[in-house]
Amino acid sequence: MIPFVDLKAQYLSIKPEIDAAIQHILDNTQFILGAEVAAFENEFAAYCGADHCMGVNNGTSALHLALLAADIGAGDEVITTPFTFVASVAAIWYTGAKPVFVDIDPATYLIDPAKIEAAITPRTKAILPVHLYGQACDMDAIMSIAKKHGLVVIEDACQAHGAEWNGKRVGGIGDMAAFSFYPGKNLGAYGEGGATTTNDAEYARKIRMLRDWGAEKKYMHVLKGYNMRLEGMQGAILRVKLKYLEQWTEARRAAARRYDEMFAGSGVPTPFVQPQARHVYHIYSTRTRGRQAWQDALSAKGIQTGIHYPIAIHRLPAYEDLGYKVGEFPHAEKAAAEQLSLPMYPELTASMQEQVVAAVADLHKTAELAA
Ligand SMILES: *Cc1c(COP(=O)(O)O)cnc(C)c1O
Repeated sequence: MIPFVDLKAQYLSIKPEIDAAIQHILDNTQFILGAEVAAFENEFAAYCGADHCMGVNNGTSALHLALLAADIGAGDEVITTPFTFVASVAAIWYTGAKPVFVDIDPATYLIDPAKIEAAITPRTKAILPVHLYGQACDMDAIMSIAKKHGLVVIEDACQAHGAEWNGKRVGGIGDMAAFSFYPGKNLGAYGEGGATTTNDAEYARKIRMLRDWGAEKKYMHVLKGYNMRLEGMQGAILRVKLKYLEQWTEARRAAARRYDEMFAGSGVPTPFVQPQARHVYHIYSTRTRGRQAWQDALSAKGIQTGIHYPIAIHRLPAYEDLGYKVGEFPHAEKAAAEQLSLPMYPELTASMQEQVVAAVADLHKTAELAA
């Protein structure tokens, strides 16, 4: 069996440290926020090259609070991609603002910066680029468009811990950035977790209040806030795991290089990486018109795959009311129909990859012969 991800293998590799971190919280009873969360926030901010990090209960809340801190709400528009996990769009919706889509670049699967300006209206307040699969968007282009039009940039970095654009870490490039510590993400908690990072002290102050009932100090609620705090145990676990993140990221990048080399000459599509990007391979993606048959055949050989994501957001029943039509974002729709994610995690071995590549290359060859 070659799993899509293996969270157990990673836990076993650091078990004594994790178990001690959990025991420490049981002993000091700082179950919500507390010293471990504060220490993690400082360490993760430094890792991202950002001045501030605010731990929250998941990545969706990290996005939601970033949007609220920028005063985005009813009547506003936020530009984003229709090819993302639904949370990017849901967070915009929660604020009362309208998500406005811009199609992707079919080579990278990322929002196409060349199409952003045409979507800007007098109501546009922000751009929310998604560093999908762990590859940074073209942040030079996006920041310059935002500057020209006076827009806030909120990075959805939920899949992109440690990713870089032109040597700068995501999380410290836009006005704010949201990270998820969902267990399967590159930096994963053992439960729910997320964080917003920023270089702006005022955004940081507001998010610290909003995540904890809008309180400036206990029972002094100056904003209408939420209960979106990061748990002490997750902070303690994330502190341990953050020490290994670079090592794990390099292991993902090495596995991606091996896939690229093993697939070379086979005709199987491999990820296109922009020269300015440090890709951190949350997902290693290929594509095929015969996706269901491939998934079934691979599964029969014990190889698990994933789809990220099978339906573009504008075609989901939940977001029909945005009024977009079929065919409006053709690159996103085609990617949703063809994209296939192969096993990718730091502990993936070369011999497992050989099996994956042999099976996928075989399916590709059979499809070509049939065509
Ligand atoms: C995981 C993810 C989120 C949401 O994070 P949660 O921690 O699950 O709330 C948002 N955007 C993207 C692109 C994600 O992959």
